[in-house]
Amino acid sequence: MGETTRLRLYNTLTRAKEDFVPIDPANVRMYVCGPTVYDFAHIGNARPVIVFDVLFRLLRHLYGAEHVTYVRNITDVDDKINARAVRDFPGLPLNEAIRKVTETTAAQYHKDTAALGALEPTVEPRATDNIAEMQSLIASLIGSRHAYEAAGEVLFSVDSMPDYGKLSGRSLADNVAGARVAVEAHKRNPADFVLWKQSSPEEPGWDSPWGRGRPGWHIECSAMSERYLGKVFDIHAGGLDLIFPHHENEIAQSRCAHGTAVMANYWLHNGFLQVEGQKMSKSLGNFITIHELLETDKFGGRKWPGEVLRLAMLMTHYREPIDFSVKRLEEALGLWTRWTRWISYYPDAPSIVPEAAVQCLCDDLNTPRLFRELSGVSSVAAGTWEGTHPPDGVVHEADRRTAAGKLRGILELLGVSIEAGQAERDDKVTRQMVAARLAALNARDFARADQIRAELLAQGIQLMDYKDEAGQRRTRWEVKR
Ligand code: AMP
Ligand code: ZN
Repeated sequence: MGETTRLRLYNTLTRAKEDFVPIDPANVRMYVCGPTVYDFAHIGNARPVIVFDVLFRLLRHLYGAEHVTYVRNITDVDDKINARAVRDFPGLPLNEAIRKVTETTAAQYHKDTAALGALEPTVEPRATDNIAEMQSLIASLIGSRHAYEAAGEVLFSVDSMPDYGKLSGRSLADNVAGARVAVEAHKRNPADFVLWKQSSPEEPGWDSPWGRGRPGWHIECSAMSERYLGKVFDIHAGGLDLIFPHHENEIAQSRCAHGTAVMANYWLHNGFLQVEGQKMSKSLGNFITIHELLETDKFGGRKWPGEVLRLAMLMTHYREPIDFSVKRLEEALGLWTRWTRWISYYPDAPSIVPEAAVQCLCDDLNTPRLFRELSGVSSVAAGTWEGTHPPDGVVHEADRRTAAGKLRGILELLGVSIEAGQAERDDKVTRQMVAARLAALNARDFARADQIRAELLAQGIQLMDYKDEAGQRRTRWEVKR
């Protein structure tokens, strides 16, 4: 890796942007907390999938694809899953019902993430395949007096760890004062959290030295990350809401079990995707699922390609909040249509990844800066470049071709697919927009119709209205070159 492409990442643990130095450049290791599979993922959940996929791709670019290990788990044991199984499959034995819920939800998740252009992680472990590993971690924590049994549970003793709370910057006093944890008599400290809890005969459970039961959520990630990445690894990531308690507790478990100073060297957290200033979440009910966005017309009256959602997400820096809107999707659609169109004019232009583009991503995944870079390259590809005014006032074909290759290279690095036949797919999107405009005209919503016309024009598409023999309003469109 050259001096110019030094990767810097903002580390929640130190609250600073730091040079990224992997433990072993031949095996760069990253863990991202995956979904709890009880329901469709919403587009807020898509944010970490997309953002950390871009990081995965960048690491592969910098260190070589075979030198990066990315683990993203599937949480398939959780009380929310049990509740959903009881609700949706009342006639089935609970374990069978649970299997149905987790299998269908995981399959949907894979479909969704593939449509968003996310690479599959190197390993995707399931909690239920790692119960023995969790039990051995718990046994070692009990052995070293970091955990204790009480009232049928095994609990982690936060008082046993002098610097508990370092990641989130919460002291134990804060936790109690804020009354964020219910005071329960069997806990030595109200902030102690569950590693193992007993299951009733109907509930899913595994035999253990502490009775038939099931693991708490946090221990799952400690066990799975150790199994696939080792006791200390490079990057651990997830959404902002995971900092406390989930990541804090993962750190407590792993560090105390292994006697290490850190669990991972760099902790990365994406900001929230919001709706009218509020975090999109299942509990607030203000969510739209990835599936709905891609496959139905519930949002903005039309289906949105996965690539568009991906770009809409990356227009904002990953640590900033995003306010989600149709307008944002339309903007992303405009960019995607334009960029892929210029690329399709030079289908055999070899893809080039400009150093400047890599540098944008190396600056803590500065995608907004990369988008500015992209729009410069895009205007050259479009032949409308005004940057340094070539002497004859025109952009040469060779320059357009090179720029198209750069566009392709940058979009590939970002994981935005540019398939052969892209032009056809563009046409499909265009047809949908033309139809939406006609519908608006017929409904006398002229503002909306004008807005769509302007959007299309921005993509280089010109509309011509006419009446057919039956006197019906029709629209012809052509690509302005
Ligand atoms: P959950 O299924 O709630 O554990 O969430 C899965 C992942 O999505 C976690 O990394 C969360 O931090 C992340 N997440 C959940 N809601 C949002 C949101 N509104 N914006 C961004 N990330 C989110
Ligand atoms: Zn986790």
